[in-house]
Amino acid sequence: MIRRPLVAGNWKMNGLRASLAEIEAMSAVYDDALRARAELIVCPPATLIALAREIATRGGLGLGGQDCHAEASGAHTGDISAEMLKDAGASYVIVGHSERRSDHGETDADVQAKAAAALRAGLTPIICVGETRAEREAGDALSIVGAQIEGSLPADAPAHIVVAYEPVWAIGTGLTPTVDDVAEMHAFARERIEARLGGGKSGEVRILYGGSVKPSNARELMYVANVDGALVGGASLTAKDFIGVASAYR
Ligand code: PEP
Repeated sequence: MIRRPLVAGNWKMNGLRASLAEIEAMSAVYDDALRARAELIVCPPATLIALAREIATRGGLGLGGQDCHAEASGAHTGDISAEMLKDAGASYVIVGHSERRSDHGETDADVQAKAAAALRAGLTPIICVGETRAEREAGDALSIVGAQIEGSLPADAPAHIVVAYEPVWAIGTGLTPTVDDVAEMHAFARERIEARLGGGKSGEVRILYGGSVKPSNARELMYVANVDGALVGGASLTAKDFIGVASAYR
């Protein structure tokens, strides 16, 4: 089973119009050779998606949102629907990021509803799961992630969904799990995805690793078995670092 690696940049609440220059610079160096080996997408703040559309399309880069509401429209002040993201030019949306789970109290059921909304709108959801430091230290990492997969993936999801394993304690900290721990978790995640979706779909689902990925550690992490790319936060804000990470696939 060949899964095309995906390197996705999560800009979080960073980026003004001036930051479009970074997307322009990413497009300029995302050449045919790299494109043949990996898919690159950027998830800027929603305010920049429509503005980035032309630059990104020209360079073959994809765009994604960072969250969506479960409903298509309605009285939900401040929220953005999957349909709106699609209309603005996104083809992906991150759902269930740990910062959404902790800052906004999102549950697995919420995340599942958002992933279903993404699919309804024609977006590919990048569904995030991952354990906290305390959960890992208690030896519960696998069971926590297994339960998040069970609760956050729509049971009828197609094989093109993306799952991102992001240990909460590795996000923005400079810490990363050992290669053995990543291998164990990704193999386990694929089993749990199969148990949830069935029909052999898990062989096609891309499972990204996220948490302090940077140019200097990308190669080591991206070549672990069952790692099909990266969800990158801080190192996706500049073209230099983001392409540095993606270049692990050159
Ligand atoms: C993230 O926010 O998804 C992330 C992985 O952040 P960072 O790369 O900065 O750890």
